[in-house]
Amino acid sequence: MKSGSPLLLLLPVMILAATALPACKKVDRSDYIADGVSKLLATYRFETVSDVKYNLTFKIDEGKDSPVEGTAVIEFSLGAGREPLVIDFRVPEDNLRTVSVNGRSAAAALTNGHIIVDRRLLSRRYNRVEIGFRAGDLSLNRNDEYLYTLFVPDRASTAFPCFDQPDIKGRFTLALDIPAGYRAMSNNPIVSADTADSRVMLRFSETRPISTYLFAFAAGKFELVEKEVEGVKMEMLHRETRAGYLDNNAEEIFRLHYSALKWLEEYTQIPYPFDKFGFVLLPPFQYSGMEHPGSIFYRFSSLILEASPTLNERLSRASLIAHETSHIWFGDLVTMKWFDDVWLKEVFAGYMSDKIAGPDFPDVNHDLKFLLSRYPAAYDVDRTRGTNPVIQELGNMKDAGSLYGGIIYNKAPIVMRQLEQITGEENLMKGLQVYLKKYSWGNARWDDLVSILEESSGKPLSEWSRMWIKEAGMPVITPVISETDGFRISFREDDPAGTIRHWPQTLRTMVITANDTVTADLEPAERDSYITTAERPLCIIPDISGRAYGTFLFDSLTAKYLAEHLPDIQDPLLKGILWINMYENLVNGVIRPADFHATASRDLQVITDLQLRNYLSGRFSAVWWNWLSAEERAARAVETEAILRGKMASAENPAEKRSWFGTLSSLTVTQSGLDYLASLWKSGTLPGGTLQGGNIQGGARPGENLPGPVRLSEDELCTLALTLALKGYTGADRIIADQRKRIENKERLERFDFVTPAVSADAAVRDAFFESLRDPANREREPWVLEALGYLHHPMVAERSEKYILPSLEMLEEIKSTGDIFFPERWISATLEGHRSAEARATVEKFLDDNPDYPADLKLKILQAADHLFR
Ligand SMILES: [Zn+2]
Repeated sequence: MKSGSPLLLLLPVMILAATALPACKKVDRSDYIADGVSKLLATYRFETVSDVKYNLTFKIDEGKDSPVEGTAVIEFSLGAGREPLVIDFRVPEDNLRTVSVNGRSAAAALTNGHIIVDRRLLSRRYNRVEIGFRAGDLSLNRNDEYLYTLFVPDRASTAFPCFDQPDIKGRFTLALDIPAGYRAMSNNPIVSADTADSRVMLRFSETRPISTYLFAFAAGKFELVEKEVEGVKMEMLHRETRAGYLDNNAEEIFRLHYSALKWLEEYTQIPYPFDKFGFVLLPPFQYSGMEHPGSIFYRFSSLILEASPTLNERLSRASLIAHETSHIWFGDLVTMKWFDDVWLKEVFAGYMSDKIAGPDFPDVNHDLKFLLSRYPAAYDVDRTRGTNPVIQELGNMKDAGSLYGGIIYNKAPIVMRQLEQITGEENLMKGLQVYLKKYSWGNARWDDLVSILEESSGKPLSEWSRMWIKEAGMPVITPVISETDGFRISFREDDPAGTIRHWPQTLRTMVITANDTVTADLEPAERDSYITTAERPLCIIPDISGRAYGTFLFDSLTAKYLAEHLPDIQDPLLKGILWINMYENLVNGVIRPADFHATASRDLQVITDLQLRNYLSGRFSAVWWNWLSAEERAARAVETEAILRGKMASAENPAEKRSWFGTLSSLTVTQSGLDYLASLWKSGTLPGGTLQGGNIQGGARPGENLPGPVRLSEDELCTLALTLALKGYTGADRIIADQRKRIENKERLERFDFVTPAVSADAAVRDAFFESLRDPANREREPWVLEALGYLHHPMVAERSEKYILPSLEMLEEIKSTGDIFFPERWISATLEGHRSAEARATVEKFLDDNPDYPADLKLKILQAADHLFR
């Protein structure tokens, strides 16, 4: 799965202890049948249930309102044990119609989302449970003309009765009773289609053993395209109706799938293991893609690109297809045993997709891309008290959503590159081949892979794994300079948690003196690992490889040197490394915000690499608002605005012009600056000497150089109007009212109206808006809520919004239960990010003190989001 944008669970110790119970012993009944799938239930069930087959039928009508009726026949073997059999089915009680066990009717009742079957009805060997039900709609994603399932991580049981845990794999046989105008796709091929009375009964062949979260189907008004590339048959369902778009993209989509599949067959030495290869393009989809074997689901816009796509768009598409195709082996064929290892399938899909898609794009600096996309996001979590290890404790499947976050998406890929460095690329490949072969069609844990890799590489890995995968946090690494017979430079390693831990890694260190530059590999905290120089070091760069990980603090000479010379450095990767380090040094109080701003301001004017410029612009804005005081901003505003205006006016490429405009409108605080922004809003265009056309964000497009000014898009104009209102610009009310009238897109207008109260100058309007968020229905459009919270808590108006912090914290538990898996983290981050006051800090501390039994996963999210308040 790929989020397309972005956790944790600490479990009561008793559950962990209980998992060791042998199957025949009595278990704690309240955990066993608790809501969700507890680790206790999962462990017991894994030991006793096997050879599972599901025979499922769903009857689907047109539209999204009439219920989906279904039947399930579950066949399985049962081992010894005393506990009743638990089948998961998380629906309202009425949805369960009939239950029969081995031909005898049983009670159709639900307890905590489970059907509990009396042991006496079951046989020690073969069993057959038949269930009549109405499917819950939660994960059927119903629309007027189609529906699709999305069961990851534990939502299969909201649609049909099953054993909803990844290590009980089942063979699924599906039948779909659908309207005659509908098409459908599932994991396996269709074997028969019987039409009668304007209905079609589609039957699919039995799948190979797959986990419940990987079972999937989509049905509705779709078009089917079939294609064979060098013997590989592929099928695609889509709803594209615009002329030309499909022709422009289909060929490439099939080619990318074909080449990813062939690459993986070669790398893994395992031929494509499932019965067919297909994909469905869904107009709105929660993620960029989801790797159901035989039927990968994609967000439509991730694969169907606009005319003349940018390099980045093409690279993202190729990477996404490679990522999801890699999951066929890493995740589908070999699956994690429990969701605490969900990071493992993600990290290998990412690792493979870099290898598969990267070489097709030689013009992209992939090392820089990796650095800028992973390190800052990993550090943002890992430097906080709320950080978590890559492998997190998970006591119940219902909390699996909290596992996803910055650490598994960003730190895990970083440490995987370390692993490759230790084992060597070849040995890693060989180890992975053994692993995939040994655990095919089954489940494995991270530790299973570690032992195989130790064997294939001949390198001990358990200590590395313990520190980088199982422990939370990162080292703080500081240079130590001693002056004896020249200068000797080594590194001290500190553990921010206050204990003594050592993270094994090698740094490629560079030391610059007045007349010399020395480079060497150093191990932090190793007594005999140092560099000597004859002259005093002017600048010590702890690591120039872009592979080391930690907080690298500068000594005072280096801080001074970089503040002066960073803009002179040409190499993009080194510049990226240093800017990331600069920011960490700012957060840790080594670099003053004013110095960061001054150096970044100079460097932004000379950086030509777009990846670097985008990264630095983002940090530049963040430092402006979150680290500089209002006085410091005021002192620098005239010059900063003039620089950004100049860059915007002279940028030749529309995408660059837009990017400068975005930074300018975010930073502007002077009256004349706001007047200027208001004039841009009025004209709806950006100035410039060159005539350029197009209004598509994200980069230059060939053929876009048509005469005409750069027009601001509807989104940009809305944001500009809201920004002017937020900043208290005189006449903003009028601008907001006029902007409303300008908006043509209906959804954009709804969003604009939703967000507008958050920038109101009237406290009563803002209060009423915040109160409205208590109703879950008003939080359904999560991106709208986050946009509004960003304005509500903007640093410029943070003081007036402090009163919303406590209620926002109090709502967090409910938000977890009603929102998407990423929403609690984003809600609390958007709330706290703009605040810096002692009062805000006290509010968070008091909340945590007053709630000693607060859920551990959410507590960590709060600590992550509040980190800047504690510094
Ligand atoms: Zn994935």
